[in-house]
Amino acid sequence: MRWTQTLIPTLKEVPQDAEVKSHILMVRGGYIRKLTAGAYSYLPLGLRVLRKIEAIIREEMDSHGGREVLLPAIQPPELWKQTGRYDGLGDVLIKFMDRHKKENVLGPTHEEVITALVAGEVRSYKQLPLTLYQIQTKFRDEPRPRFGVLRSKEFIMKDAYSFDVDTDGLNRSYQKMYEAYCAIFSRCGLDYLAVEADPGFMGGDVSHEFMALSEIGEDVIAVCPSCGYAASKEAAAIQSPVASAGGGSAFGGGRQSLAKGEKLETIKEVETPATTTIEKVGKLLNTPPEKMIKTLIYKADDKPVAVLIRGDHDVNEAKLRRYLKCEILQLADEKTIKDVTGGPLGFSGPVGLRGVRMAADYAIADCGNFVTGANKKDFHLMNVNLGRDFTVKEWADVRYVADQDPCPKCQKPITIKFAIEVGHTFKLGTKYSKALGAAYLDDKGEERPMIMGCYGIGVNRIAAAYIEQHNDDNGIIWPASISPYRVVIIPVNAAQTKIMGVAEEIYADLTKQHIEALFDDRDERAGIKFKDADLIGVPYQVVVSDRHINDGKVEVKTRKTGERKIVDIQCVRDVVSAMP
Ligand code: ATP
Ligand code: MG
Repeated sequence: MRWTQTLIPTLKEVPQDAEVKSHILMVRGGYIRKLTAGAYSYLPLGLRVLRKIEAIIREEMDSHGGREVLLPAIQPPELWKQTGRYDGLGDVLIKFMDRHKKENVLGPTHEEVITALVAGEVRSYKQLPLTLYQIQTKFRDEPRPRFGVLRSKEFIMKDAYSFDVDTDGLNRSYQKMYEAYCAIFSRCGLDYLAVEADPGFMGGDVSHEFMALSEIGEDVIAVCPSCGYAASKEAAAIQSPVASAGGGSAFGGGRQSLAKGEKLETIKEVETPATTTIEKVGKLLNTPPEKMIKTLIYKADDKPVAVLIRGDHDVNEAKLRRYLKCEILQLADEKTIKDVTGGPLGFSGPVGLRGVRMAADYAIADCGNFVTGANKKDFHLMNVNLGRDFTVKEWADVRYVADQDPCPKCQKPITIKFAIEVGHTFKLGTKYSKALGAAYLDDKGEERPMIMGCYGIGVNRIAAAYIEQHNDDNGIIWPASISPYRVVIIPVNAAQTKIMGVAEEIYADLTKQHIEALFDDRDERAGIKFKDADLIGVPYQVVVSDRHINDGKVEVKTRKTGERKIVDIQCVRDVVSAMP
């Protein structure tokens, strides 16, 4: 492609609303332009990247048993009401009225549509297993569209759905998709991890998130550098010291293990007027949050429960809900707190709490002389110690992991990292097949619900996540696999016929060899061309200048390393195609 015959509007300035590298570079490199919040136009270079990623996805999906379909974005709300997601998705679901005053929704995902389709077309176990996928635009009214195409309201997703006769079948289909995903992300050049994700409400179901590591990622993951364990922050388990110590005595109800050289202090009540948060109490009493106990009163299906965790930790309500086996979990209202503790909100503590179920996080056992609420307005207690001042009967994993927590697999310290979710695989079971009547007849003629899995990948997000991971001060650094072109040919002076002649010759030769080349035939200064070539990030640059052409040679520069080779004009195509 000739630069002058396409549209690559590169920019020198950083766009005002762009906060992250990928957004800045995609705009500056002429890949995308913003239309409105959460909606972007893809210019020729941007579209070529998307098409490359899609081609890799198609190859891997097809070779792992997927069959491509294309489902409508416009969908009837009735389907969504049948699965309960019309309300469940809330404002994320974009709805509109057509001219006949009939409501439509724009598909944010396609479980409902595909399940209804398969319900109508597949009747027999002989037609299963079946994995269908599509690459299509999704619509979500995201509360906070941001970071360019990383989180937009309109984006391209590859979504796949598997239908099986039984759980073994689902496991096989799931495994194939898992392998396809690993192949896709590796081929796209992403530095990624497959992590165990929160199985959500339907406890026991398996789910994996594919995470591209990045400082700007909105997802938090726990990674063990020693054994390779990786889980989302939501799912990462906290090892019960009881289990790891083979049922040690420490958790029988009370003990205190103080820091080295610290002794058990006498409990005392201190006045803390109108001081309720961990931060304020900590400041007033000069105590770090890890020496404080937060006592949170919850209502689990209407029964009060007190939850004890350290001041620097956070309750994971999904874990707590699973632990308590309740449907509805919410923080208790002021009246319940008063009834249960005798004190107001913000002053709860474990000392003297009676008649209420109490669950504590393991970390409470690991230190002493805590600050807690005194269950009395404007008072806290200092030097509270487990065993002496209160006891715990229920130890539970009810909080989010924190950096340096012991790994649930090998007990060595885990590390907390940030990541961008680029894909998600999920064993669904029969939730959708039951709701939408996707049943098959087994070999005895009995009707059974199909067992489903679903698998999503964000196409645009792969491009942006890749750029987050692979850039330098000059621009993007593409791998050959998803770069818009393999080579950019740069004649340093378009006014010199000899230089342009050689550049034309190389361009024609590469094109004939099906090597994707972009020919910078603009009448621009060499400096501008070099800067733009680095900015758009194509992996190889062929520089044609009068420094070398009289010897019949040109320069081939590798964008990633900056390495330059002087190459015979006739050999450019072989050198460029041999490069990785
Ligand atoms: P997130 O947690 O980031 O909102 P999600 O869990 O809602 O994502 P899924 O429903 O699992 O997303 O969608 C599958 C894939 O689609 C995600 O892994 C991600 O790569 C992509 N994706 C989801 N939402 C967006 C968005 N708003 N913009 C771009 N890509 C998205
Ligand atoms: Mg997800």
